[in-house]
Amino acid sequence: MSIICVKKQIVLLMGGHMKKHLLFFVLLVVWFLIPFQKVQASNSDYKHILILNSYHSGFQWTDNQTEGILSALSMDNPHYNISIEHMDWKRYPTDKNLDNIYKSLQDKYALQKIDVVVTTDDAAFYFALENRSTIFSDAPVVFCGVNSTGLLQAKDESNYTGVLEEIYPEDTIRAALKINPSINTIYLIYDNTESGMSTGELCIKAANKVNSTLNVISLNQESSTDIINQLPDINQNSIILITTYFTDLDGSPINHQAFCKKISSESYVPVYHLYDFGMNQGVFGGYLTTGRQQGMEAGELANRIIKGEKADEIPILSLKSSHFTYDYLVAQKFQIKKSQLPLQNITMNKPFSFLETYRNLVITVLFIIILLASFSGVLLFYIRKINKMKYKLAQNNEELSQLYEELSATEEELRAQVTDISDAHEQLEEYSTKLHHLAYHDTLTGLYNRLYLYEEIGEKLEDNSYEGAMYFIDLDNFKFVNDALGHSIGDELLIAISNRLLTLTSKNIALIRLGGDEFVFFASKIKSKEVAKDFAVKIINIFSSNFDINENRLSVTVSIGIAMFPENGASIDKLLRNADMAMYKVKNNGKNGYYFFNNQLKEELMERINIEKNFKNALEYKEFQIHYQPQIKIGTDNIDGFEALIRWQNKELGMLSPIKFISVAEETGFITVLGEWILKTACNTVAKLNQKLNQSFNISVNISVIQLVQDDFVKVVKKVLKETCLSPELLELEITESVIMESQELVTEKIKILRKLGIKIAIDDFGTGYSSLSYLRNIPITTLKIDKLFVDDIGNPLSNTDVTDTIIDLGHKMNLTIVAEGVETKEQLTYLKQNGCDKIQGYFYSKPLPIQKLEEFINNYQQLDFG
Ligand code: C2E
Ligand code: CA
Ligand code: CA
Repeated sequence: MSIICVKKQIVLLMGGHMKKHLLFFVLLVVWFLIPFQKVQASNSDYKHILILNSYHSGFQWTDNQTEGILSALSMDNPHYNISIEHMDWKRYPTDKNLDNIYKSLQDKYALQKIDVVVTTDDAAFYFALENRSTIFSDAPVVFCGVNSTGLLQAKDESNYTGVLEEIYPEDTIRAALKINPSINTIYLIYDNTESGMSTGELCIKAANKVNSTLNVISLNQESSTDIINQLPDINQNSIILITTYFTDLDGSPINHQAFCKKISSESYVPVYHLYDFGMNQGVFGGYLTTGRQQGMEAGELANRIIKGEKADEIPILSLKSSHFTYDYLVAQKFQIKKSQLPLQNITMNKPFSFLETYRNLVITVLFIIILLASFSGVLLFYIRKINKMKYKLAQNNEELSQLYEELSATEEELRAQVTDISDAHEQLEEYSTKLHHLAYHDTLTGLYNRLYLYEEIGEKLEDNSYEGAMYFIDLDNFKFVNDALGHSIGDELLIAISNRLLTLTSKNIALIRLGGDEFVFFASKIKSKEVAKDFAVKIINIFSSNFDINENRLSVTVSIGIAMFPENGASIDKLLRNADMAMYKVKNNGKNGYYFFNNQLKEELMERINIEKNFKNALEYKEFQIHYQPQIKIGTDNIDGFEALIRWQNKELGMLSPIKFISVAEETGFITVLGEWILKTACNTVAKLNQKLNQSFNISVNISVIQLVQDDFVKVVKKVLKETCLSPELLELEITESVIMESQELVTEKIKILRKLGIKIAIDDFGTGYSSLSYLRNIPITTLKIDKLFVDDIGNPLSNTDVTDTIIDLGHKMNLTIVAEGVETKEQLTYLKQNGCDKIQGYFYSKPLPIQKLEEFINNYQQLDFG
């Protein structure tokens, strides 16, 4: 039985809250543990505790106390043998009852060992004290439910201790006043039993203590019905305070709970109570004395005694209630707010609020829900993303398959097109061959053209081991053919020339027409200059016979510039440039020949460019000067006249020989300006000199072919003569033999006019050209100048004087004056004198002199002895 009790207590202890599942677990553990331990312990180990209740089972106050005791005992030690007895003193407070109780308990316990007797309320306490020696093993007694007044009866006893039953009317009244400060009346309900009277008295005292003006009305002299009947009339500023009320005025028992319920339902003011058993009936609350608390404390004391403490040594406990207990529903009914209540309070009957009860759980669950929601959110986001991607993929897939279909459709078309294209390709190749031929060939002659040279031959040149020679061929005087005979004859001549040149081509020798009268032989496999020279001679020889074009017999010569590769250039451009340069050298040297390119040519070219540049200001800066070389008349040995020879002193280039710059002046056209200046200056100087010295010296002026071919040449000469007042008979114009030969027709007329004016005409450098003297018959010249080349032969044992002799002989036959130039030695002079030369010019007499020096020479001439 005791074990069952303990289990029950645990259930009660834990309360009926949410911890039920946890409780179930604990219960299970306890259930299995307890019997096991019981088996282990021997009977003698068990302590026998008797709980003796004054009142009956079912009376709440008593039941609460018993529960309290049991809970304390079971908490402390499960090895208790607990017996519970009820004296039922409230319902049967009679001696007969006492006798019966005594007999019954004696039967039960006289022969048993009782270790502690725990009593609830006064009757059981006194009974235990009085009878313990006979039936309760003289055990120590622990009481509860006895107030200080009740305790007085035991003042002579010992071996007991307990818990004083105290009530807290003062705290309760103070709380009521705090809730409603205007309270002025307290209706006090208690019965006229011993305990009722004593509690009533305590309440009155307490009320006075709190506030002496409080009107305390004790209702103990009224029946329960009267009390209930007067309730509707009681003052609003009052409270009802119920304490011990178990007996009506007539002594009949009162069902306290039912009474409390009735009072509460009838009352318009809050009903306060001092015991916990009054609650749950509509009573508002109070600082409550609880049976359970009383029991628990008593149980604790019993534990201490069992553990060995002496009851007398344990002081009697006095409890203090620290919390104000109130009924939530009643507070609502009277509109009492929580803030009006004492701070420490216990709420009863509060309707179940899930949120409040499971606050932590709710928070946890909410947290989890939020967490889950956010997870789901993230998940949803990604699912959506994935779906979108899937959708896109599907779309792309569709597009792809469409594209695939289109592609396979076009494949067939493509095949058809491929056939068309290959047809077109064949045609194109045909055209291309044609075009290629057109592009690489000259239309007039059918020879390869410049493009072919650059593209096809140029490619071969990239190989450095490729050796050979490039021949740059320029026809001499082709311009005159074109001008004189017309372009169609010119074209036919070019075709005829091409055909002749073609005979020289072979596998390794290509012929190219660059344009105009320019041709190129590109000969590979020529490894030395000797071999290259042989081929140049072959070219020249091809032109030895005349060309018969439309009844014109034409004599053609060529100037050939040769560039060797790779040493003179590894590209067509460079080779062409260098071969061209070499060709020009031939032209300058009198044409009709060949010349190998060398680096000096390049320097010459640079010099030419420099010269050209400096011409611009030379006249203005007075850089030109004329020197005069005397000509001595054989026979008289007098000074006959002078040859004017130009000199150029330039800051940058220094003293320049006319041989160098005259040709440049001719090419640039500057010669026309310069030539006029020379003519004018020379004429002017000699005119003045003649005047000054009263002499009639002749003046010979060199005339360039370029000057001569100018339309206004005669006009210019006339003008100069007029301006300088020189007599035309004293002027002699020197024209180079080659010039006259090249342009006979052009110049003959002019020479005739000049001759008519009285001007003399000398053929310079006579004998150097290949011309025969026969053509001279048609030109009215006056003088022949034997070139220094032939004069040099005089006295030279390795050569002969045939040319000089012939010139003199022939010249005299034609009634021409013969001048020998470059005479340096006495021997030359003597020979020339003996052979009838008319005039002598040379260093033997004098170098060309500036005018001051010339005057000196003239003045000193008579004294000079030339032997
Ligand atoms: P050129 O007309 O045959 O002139 C004769 C050249 O022989 C002159 O050279 C003269 O100084 C040089 N000379 C004369 N006697 C001797 C001598 O005994 N020994 C040596 N070694 N040389 C002698 P320069 O003055 O250097 O002129 C060279 C050429 O330049 C001229 O040859 C002529 O063709 C041209 N030239 C000179 N002045 C003029 C000019 O005013 N106008 C034109 N168009 N050409 C000129
Ligand atoms: Ca001359
Ligand atoms: Ca000369």
